[in-house]
Amino acid sequence: MEVDVLSFCAEELSRLEGLDLRRILRLLSAAQYTEIEVDGRQILLFASNDYLGFANHERIIHAAKTALDRYGVGAGSARLICGHMEAHRLLESELAAFKTKEDAVLFSSGYLANVGSIPALAGEGDAIFSDELNHASIVDGVRLSKAERSIYPHMDVDVLDRRLAEHRGLHPKARRLVMTDSVFSMDGTLAPLPALADACERHGAMLMVDEAHATGVLGPGGRGAVAHFELEDRVPILMGTLSKALGSAGGFVAGSRTLCEYLRNKARSFIFDTALPPAMAAAASEGLRLLALDPLRGERLLAQTRMLAEQLSSMGYAVAEPEAAILAIHFGDASSVLHFSRDLLEHDDILVPAIRPPTVPEGGSRLRLTLSSAHTPAQIERLLRAFESRSPA
Ligand SMILES: *Cc1c(COP(=O)(O)O)cnc(C)c1O
Repeated sequence: MEVDVLSFCAEELSRLEGLDLRRILRLLSAAQYTEIEVDGRQILLFASNDYLGFANHERIIHAAKTALDRYGVGAGSARLICGHMEAHRLLESELAAFKTKEDAVLFSSGYLANVGSIPALAGEGDAIFSDELNHASIVDGVRLSKAERSIYPHMDVDVLDRRLAEHRGLHPKARRLVMTDSVFSMDGTLAPLPALADACERHGAMLMVDEAHATGVLGPGGRGAVAHFELEDRVPILMGTLSKALGSAGGFVAGSRTLCEYLRNKARSFIFDTALPPAMAAAASEGLRLLALDPLRGERLLAQTRMLAEQLSSMGYAVAEPEAAILAIHFGDASSVLHFSRDLLEHDDILVPAIRPPTVPEGGSRLRLTLSSAHTPAQIERLLRAFESRSPA
């Protein structure tokens, strides 16, 4: 008798199905903008990370097409094998200037930037201190490192400070790396960056900040949360992605020239990964140019997000004051949030995803709504009417 060596796949899928946790992919039949087309239906979307509408901006599309004609599609090899292209070099220097750092290193995604840089910065005998709500790419980067791990309670700088002091006492010569998201992706809250920078300086630790949800949205000219707090000189390692507000694909780490040269030599996801397609680099460069032309894009988006939060809150929904373009609308229990989200999609063709455990803690179920500057006032009005016609859980 033949044994089905893959039977565990079907078993696990039906287990997930039973828990209402099995995920399926939606097929989108047109570009993803503020609306998506699914099975011939137009769905109004409040779930994308395309915060500034850049993924479908005509100037960014044009920049990518021009680069396609010039460089072709694939980069052909890892950058250390055959070299890189002008589009890569240019974008690295533009990102460095944008983040007021000496240099920046490009990766093929933000995920790969974290997964490669973290183990390169801290290894055997070192220690990494990571916020418990950090993004999965940070979690995985920490797991790949041979360093000791310390997951500290969410935004708890006092606990972190004690652990750093203790570690320094025991291992004065070891490296200590503190990792945090600047904007936490499920809550839209801002990390206490000034206090984190103080703690790191007190205990000789490196601070690395993931600006994925802040780049393009927060800080002067959309330069991020570190710039918002004027901490550029005190955060030596800045990470970000080109795939959210910048509307392209790819990730980066910005810092000193030496740090970037080190990562080009040591980060395995840089060394062993084919370079970012040059057209994506050119598109991200155009995104930076658009931001520079209209540096208040992020600020307007934040103002709009705050206004939406106030309106929802006056209807009785449990919304905290947003610090980024992400709104968490709290429901508590998983089944009511799921019902709300499904009903909104079925009856109003509006998608606001439900986030449940294990993504968030038990009792922390919520709708996670993201706003984009591409949303029209009429679309926001439609969302508000749909929420008004329902009752908060
Ligand atoms: C999206 C995200 C990433 C990954 O970036 P990609 O470019 O999508 O791979 C990393 N960190 C955080 C906090 C993110 O939200």
